[in-house]
Amino acid sequence: MSLSAERGAPATDVLFPGGLPSPAEALTRVFGHKDFRGRQREVIEHVVAGGDAVVLFPTGAGKSMCYQIPALCRAGTAIVVSPLIALMRDQVQALREAGVRAAALNSALSEEERQDVRRELMAGRLDLLYVTPERIVTPGFAGVLSRVQIALFAIDEAHCVSAWGHDFRPEYRALEGLADEYPNVPRIALTATADPATQRDIAERLRLVDAPVFSTSFDRPNIRYAIVERDEPKRQLLTFLKDHRGSSGIVYCLSRRKVEETAEWLNGQGVRALPYHAGMDARVKDAHQDAFLKEEGVCLVATVAFGMGIDKPDVRFVAHLDLPSSVEAYYQETGRAGRDGQPAEVWMAYGMQDVVQRRRMIDEGGAEDAIKRVERAKLDALLGICETASCRRAAILSHFGETHPGRCGNCDTCLSPVETFDGSEEAIKLMAAVYRTGERFGLGHVIEVLTGKESDKVRQFGHHQMPVFGVGKGTEARAWQSIARQLVAMGLLSVDHAAYGALVLTAEARPVFRGERKVVLRRDRRRKATRLERTGHATETLDAEAAAVFGALRGERAAIAREKGVPAYVVFSDATLRAMAERCPSDEREFLALPGVGEAKLEAYGAIFLSAIRRATGGG
Ligand code: ZN
Repeated sequence: MSLSAERGAPATDVLFPGGLPSPAEALTRVFGHKDFRGRQREVIEHVVAGGDAVVLFPTGAGKSMCYQIPALCRAGTAIVVSPLIALMRDQVQALREAGVRAAALNSALSEEERQDVRRELMAGRLDLLYVTPERIVTPGFAGVLSRVQIALFAIDEAHCVSAWGHDFRPEYRALEGLADEYPNVPRIALTATADPATQRDIAERLRLVDAPVFSTSFDRPNIRYAIVERDEPKRQLLTFLKDHRGSSGIVYCLSRRKVEETAEWLNGQGVRALPYHAGMDARVKDAHQDAFLKEEGVCLVATVAFGMGIDKPDVRFVAHLDLPSSVEAYYQETGRAGRDGQPAEVWMAYGMQDVVQRRRMIDEGGAEDAIKRVERAKLDALLGICETASCRRAAILSHFGETHPGRCGNCDTCLSPVETFDGSEEAIKLMAAVYRTGERFGLGHVIEVLTGKESDKVRQFGHHQMPVFGVGKGTEARAWQSIARQLVAMGLLSVDHAAYGALVLTAEARPVFRGERKVVLRRDRRRKATRLERTGHATETLDAEAAAVFGALRGERAAIAREKGVPAYVVFSDATLRAMAERCPSDEREFLALPGVGEAKLEAYGAIFLSAIRRATGGG
């Protein structure tokens, strides 16, 4: 069999007729970039030289380049194990656009298509082949693999191998066998979400204990975080969305009903919003997902059922109308924004109602007590981030065991610092009202008593005759809500929803009553001040002229994407389009110098975009 010898031919055979490219050549000529990012170069050189590696990069740090470039620089075909068919399809499309000979083998293909892929593989005409973990261990496929030259194995979403991770997939366990069967083929495991226990587990399960671990900070500096108190959620959401007109984004809601309602309302407000949740008809759901992926300016309103395996790089915003289940969930859901490294903004509105609802879900969830305790602690950690008066980014990263100096300059608390005050007196007043009314009432009632509102219910229980009645008159009801939330987040008060959301004191409250503990509270911003400056939009930093060119180029890109049936970013990323609008290249050489333009893209689109630029700049 001379197949593997034949496969010794260069990777992208047309581009590199003389032999295998160096990593730098592949980066420039295929992917159109001048420089490697972060630790990419280290990983790539290590793997090209035949070493195994464990790569822990956050989303958007250029993880896939760590195996895509070695795939081109080593002889043979790289086998990429990925659990998600949708993700494979996107990656294969994007690679083919760049001139890379990539294919996927999965159950979504017809038998005939699978035959074609196998033939290409056997003939040594593939640089990369994406397969599902269940396929790679079938005897038939193993037989095919044994007859071709393999450049490397890349195991993507490697946390799926660990029962500690949040997406355990038993079929990943079989990948352990690759170490014995292909002792001379480098293996690289990659993930964007793994706490220290999961990381150790990945290395053991995949027999990569001796492989170097390449990790970078989990910080996503291009994401701007903002958390606001819920006041008029729909109006607040609309204000947030105004800054993102024409961009794609996700709005997360807790319930299916809220998804439907919110999407309908947004459409009435002139926002192109599509609902997505597990209870919808499968065809409609797919159509909405497809529109979100391929069209621009679609706002997808979804439950958390949406997002896994979505690799859309140009999601410019993620909004949460309800509190996520944990800091991990918040990090993962907001992490779907800005995968292309361009500015993105994430926003959440939350209120006391979320705390009550979440606690109820946990307590009525039927889990064992030990698990409930863990879930409550997770909720408290998230509340701490919501109520912090200091940098949100530092608070989020510290949850993942990372130290950040704070003052990131790209979160709401850094951009408009929160005022704090000694709120011990207010805390005592509120807790006294809770105590005096028997720890049987929810926040609404307690605030009526505090502010001296003689409602029917207050009179019915005789609370208007108590000494605490009206002691908090000088402070608005809204401010009391904020104070109560903070006391809950601090663990001085808790919510007992077995008693319909009644507030109760905890043991921690005692030192406050005794004057032994000071309570520092954040002063809630006035409503107007909660708006941050315009951000996140791809045209944000472009001047008027460049923004106009960007708009024209975006139209061109949309037309091509529609015609080819691929997402817009597969044609060109926002970053490339933006550079195009700024630099207005006038010939092929200048066009090729743009980030994200390799030789295949120059050939396919150079002429179209060069003439669009000439038209947009009035150059004929
Ligand atoms: Zn900050």
